[in-house]
Amino acid sequence: MKIGKAKNGKVVVLGGGLAGLSALWHLQKAGFNDSFLFEKESRVGGLTRSETVNGFTFDYTGHLLHFRNEAVKKLVSNLLGENIHYVIRNSWIFSKGVFTRYPFQTNLYGLPSSVIKECILGFIKTTANGNKDAAVSKSPGSYKTFEEWIYSTLGSGIAKHFMIPYNEKLWTIPLKKLTCDWMGRFVPTTSLDQILDGALSDQSRNIGYNAHFGYPLKGGIESLPRAFAGSLKNLYPEHEVARLDLKKKRITFKNKETVNFDVLISSMPMPKLVKLISEVPSSVQKASGQLCFTSVYNINIGVDRKVSDVHWIYFPEPEFTFYRVGFPHNFSPYQVPPGCGSIYAEVAYSRRKPLDKSEIVVKVKQDLIKAKILRQEDRLLAECRLDIPCAYVLYDHNYRQSVGLIRNYLQENGVQTIGRYGSWEYSGMEDAIWQGKVTAEEVLR
Ligand SMILES: Cc1cc2nc3c(=O)[nH]c(=O)nc-3n(C[C@H](O)[C@H](O)[C@H](O)COP(=O)(O)OP(=O)(O)OC[C@H]3O[C@@H](n4cnc5c(N)ncnc54)[C@H](O)[C@@H]3O)c2cc1C
Repeated sequence: MKIGKAKNGKVVVLGGGLAGLSALWHLQKAGFNDSFLFEKESRVGGLTRSETVNGFTFDYTGHLLHFRNEAVKKLVSNLLGENIHYVIRNSWIFSKGVFTRYPFQTNLYGLPSSVIKECILGFIKTTANGNKDAAVSKSPGSYKTFEEWIYSTLGSGIAKHFMIPYNEKLWTIPLKKLTCDWMGRFVPTTSLDQILDGALSDQSRNIGYNAHFGYPLKGGIESLPRAFAGSLKNLYPEHEVARLDLKKKRITFKNKETVNFDVLISSMPMPKLVKLISEVPSSVQKASGQLCFTSVYNINIGVDRKVSDVHWIYFPEPEFTFYRVGFPHNFSPYQVPPGCGSIYAEVAYSRRKPLDKSEIVVKVKQDLIKAKILRQEDRLLAECRLDIPCAYVLYDHNYRQSVGLIRNYLQENGVQTIGRYGSWEYSGMEDAIWQGKVTAEEVLR
């Protein structure tokens, strides 16, 4: 990848989430101070901002640090210093009126025996179909759809009782419309041995990519972007990009200011960026129009008691409005005033499944009582609604071609894309930080 000119001119970074902050941090740490970041909100942090209401700190739903990359872990540890601690995950599923451990497939213990039987028999049938060691015999990429992967590797029982209802609630789309390109580490696989162990007794061992996590002790997840921003120059909040002229290499902001650049790094959502570019080829415009995503409405509540001792609970069943509920006071005790607890509920919505935001909070509270998380007599001390209009990128059957075409066009025009929405992918904070670093290094080279 050739970028050129960076040493002699301005590098502009769009978007001040972790990806953009990491890019600017690495540029400036290397001594390249002719670098600038523009963010539309009044403070940087993007999805890793935190809001404090009446002494309760809420994130944009749970934002927990999972590390596979030692370099990122080291950087985050250095930035947060004493303000990071590590926690063993304690996550559950509520279905059929009982709580079972996550992941569903290896923790059937406690479910009605008819459900356990259906799940085990369904899994055995996948192995009887010639798929001897179902979980590892084929890579997810070799299945046409996510639905096919679920039935082929986990079987019809696990599909029916968890995988299909939970995922359809989250993605708001039939799973045959999704490919497996996003899965990677995110969906834990299994073996008959593990399923039987988990059906016969309560398993406390953790399986999956997020078996333990790091989290700031104080200040919520926003401590991390704050730590990045602390040493940075040339940060411009309240600068919303309104127009991008790639020929003249000029950005116009909503406040009418303009800036020229030699190199552009964007972490703004890809379809939003394309919309703002003057004279985009129609093929790129069309591809951008095909990019799909789901949104999340995040309802946070502060309560006058410790409501739960777990980290989060998945709700696959349609009678509950939310797909997941978490408890920030168990990420760090400093998230709440002494003796109190807090809850976040995540409700997915999209163009295909619209949400009535005027009614949802009442419904969420009713459902929290139905799930025995809240009690009628609880005193609610804080409430905070956070909307995430672009939350999960959908890997539908157009994804690969559309994203490939747009990325090529942007790269050919000197725009580097980074981060979950800039690159338009399913990834986490660690990836955002890494992509910022790698791109900054490429620019400097
Ligand atoms: C519900 C949910 C839960 C998650 N949980 C986890 C988790 O537990 N662990 C984990 O590792 N990851 C998690 N993630 C993913 C994580 O939030 C992202 O990977 C990461 O924060 C992405 O950072 P980013 O900088 O790429 O994007 P963002 O944080 O979205 O930053 C993009 C920035 O661009 C700005 N912008 C947009 N338009 C413009 C414009 N026109 N002009 C100027 N600026 C603009 C935005 O305001 C924003 O600040 C979760 C995500 C969601 C949605």
